[in-house]
Amino acid sequence: MNALRPLEHFRYCPRCAAALAAGVRHNPIECAACGFVYYLNPTVAVAAFAFRDDGRVLVIRRAKEPGLGKLAPPGGFIDSGETAEMAIRREFREEVRLTLEDVVFLCSQLNDYPYRGVNYPVLDLFFTAKAVGTDAEPDPDEVAGMEWVEPRAMNPSEMAFPSMAAALRVLQSGRNAGPDATPAGSG
Ligand SMILES: [Zn+2]
Repeated sequence: MNALRPLEHFRYCPRCAAALAAGVRHNPIECAACGFVYYLNPTVAVAAFAFRDDGRVLVIRRAKEPGLGKLAPPGGFIDSGETAEMAIRREFREEVRLTLEDVVFLCSQLNDYPYRGVNYPVLDLFFTAKAVGTDAEPDPDEVAGMEWVEPRAMNPSEMAFPSMAAALRVLQSGRNAGPDATPAGSG
């Protein structure tokens, strides 16, 4: 089955259970029978390039689909009630047992996240940060491995998602290359 957008799976109104015509299964869903209107905006996710003192950043190897076996900066979806900064600190604690300081916005990128036959539109927010301590320890349920890499030596094609490859290119461009970075072209 092709992965449909979330609202393309809605065949009945969630409030009155009237059938929804195929032509209204998009954002926002509007039920002709009862007037129910439902907006489904992009899911928001966060990820961070966390630097240690020698200028290397932490990347994980993903332990699950999508992107199984590919590289990614640690991160995940924002929960209701969290700011992006709260979410990225929580994800680093959960995935790699690492504390972050100096969390700074890098860029946003569009992503598609296919999961169980649904193709979720996602807005990825990328940050740079300082890693506090270097004794990171991956959660085996989520992370198949991790390594500290020189950002300019990384190949964007190794990243799990096109959005991560695009964010890596922004990082490598030096326009915002992290807490202690030298501008592009000067090193
Ligand atoms: Zn309805």
